[in-house]
Amino acid sequence: MKRFICAAAIAALVPACAAAQTAQELIDGSKDTGNVVNYGMGYNLNRFSTLDQINKQTVKNLRPVWAYSLEDLQSQESQPLVYKGILYVSTEKATMAVDAKTGRQIWKVTLNYPPEMYRMTCCGNNSRGVALYDGKLFRAALDNRVIAYDAKTGKELWSTKAAEVKDGYSMTVAPLAVNGIIIVGNSGAEYGTRGFIDGYDAQTGKRLWRTHTVACPGEPGGDTWPAGDACQHGGGSAWVTGSYDPELDTVYWGTGNPGSWNPVLRPGDNLYTSSVLALDPKTGKIKWHYQFTPADGFDFDGVNEMVLATIPVEGQPRKVIMHANRNGFFYVIDRTNGKLLAAHAFVPQNWAKEIDMKTGRPVTTELVERYHKGENVGSSPGAFGGKNWSPMSFNPTTGLAYVNTHYLPLGMKISAQPWKQGELWFGAELGPPVMSDLPKDPHPPAALKAIDPMTGKVKWMVPDKRPRWGGTLATKGGLVFDGELAGDFKAFDADTGQVLWSFQTGSGVEGQPVTWEADGVQYVAVTSGMGGVYWLYGNDAELKSTVPQGGMLWVFALSDKR
Ligand code: CA
Repeated sequence: MKRFICAAAIAALVPACAAAQTAQELIDGSKDTGNVVNYGMGYNLNRFSTLDQINKQTVKNLRPVWAYSLEDLQSQESQPLVYKGILYVSTEKATMAVDAKTGRQIWKVTLNYPPEMYRMTCCGNNSRGVALYDGKLFRAALDNRVIAYDAKTGKELWSTKAAEVKDGYSMTVAPLAVNGIIIVGNSGAEYGTRGFIDGYDAQTGKRLWRTHTVACPGEPGGDTWPAGDACQHGGGSAWVTGSYDPELDTVYWGTGNPGSWNPVLRPGDNLYTSSVLALDPKTGKIKWHYQFTPADGFDFDGVNEMVLATIPVEGQPRKVIMHANRNGFFYVIDRTNGKLLAAHAFVPQNWAKEIDMKTGRPVTTELVERYHKGENVGSSPGAFGGKNWSPMSFNPTTGLAYVNTHYLPLGMKISAQPWKQGELWFGAELGPPVMSDLPKDPHPPAALKAIDPMTGKVKWMVPDKRPRWGGTLATKGGLVFDGELAGDFKAFDADTGQVLWSFQTGSGVEGQPVTWEADGVQYVAVTSGMGGVYWLYGNDAELKSTVPQGGMLWVFALSDKR
């Protein structure tokens, strides 16, 4: 009905309808069950919906209602958006608008890349999604273009180049639209880039600000780097979309590892790598920072999503950030000031005795010392992290975070590899883990876990033999939706972890599920399609059979509703 009224308004040239997607609609996004206007199902990145038509009792009747070929063989990690009956989705090279009820394509725009580009963007050829604002659709491209399209037609409105591929930069992030400013961050820390977070004018594409995630000597935080040009290649990429608190008018954005992985070559804490930055969205000014892993030598990163909620802390409601770091600790931070409130390991780890609650700093173990001395060590988590980018969800009713976790220890030994423009720059040799270093607690290679944020206690977990690479979605229907690399998209009981429904999508699920409601029907959508990560598991016959099928977008509803 709403769509019909809107179409009539456009016909009558009523501008209010054409200029869709206001700043207020984005602020209210987490409560808007008829649309999915934000990355993360809300500025708070909770990935939680109050819809409950699909629930523990009815989910057994969930069926696909349509599927759409993404015509792309790379990893499909994009989160779709839905606005007034139109679904928007991206791949690494294309952006599409599709009728959300029927799957009929409305428009599709394909980007042209030079073939040699893929040599430099080798390790993350994907797009994690798009942003909507003021009738425009925004995306970042692998070749570092930030682009605005007319959301109705797909016509390109502006395109601004943020950085050069030849220098190792690429972009996979879903942009964040805040009050008319389009915020993006870069990928490519493993090429010795210098990370940045940028703000662009949504109307013109003009860059309004750039905040480097690596401070150089002479700048605030610059004394945490050695003299010389180390900071110019200091890494700190920012490839996961930040969250936004409208009341505090603050954006929270995570930063990646310092470059290279060899910490001996860059003595100091290396600010602001492996940190969370609290930013003023108008200027990019850093209000405060908290560094998870000073002088990170294990590619732990701090890019993972910053989930916002108000939760009880010692009996008082506190505005917090919840963050499951690749370093294996689940952090709760006061987002008004950056003060650490809790940090508990959520996978077996061997690099820190604890996180000191007074200083907020990790108390590292002798393993870190031996690593710095040049010994081959078994690090847990390994470079893939206790949790990778795969975004968690938070259900305010259960008070639990639903997190895809890993236990994939790795052997690491520092090397003196020098930086060279356009070359992968690890500064460490990787191999099988030194078994004697590893934690003794038995743990499956991966698991979906329901975690209590303040205590770190795991209420339940579902083991998996393969990494879990997609996002989770929590709903008031008491469900957690989550996909697996073997191709299954599943609904779990949010209280027990029991599998209540499963559907084989034909390829590994690395997407980020969303849900919305239209004309009394609740829909769930997810992309499927395993690209880059399958090489990790080349001997896995079951996985191989699902790989070549390419990318699809699947949309589901209850069989008696549609
Ligand atoms: Ca990294």
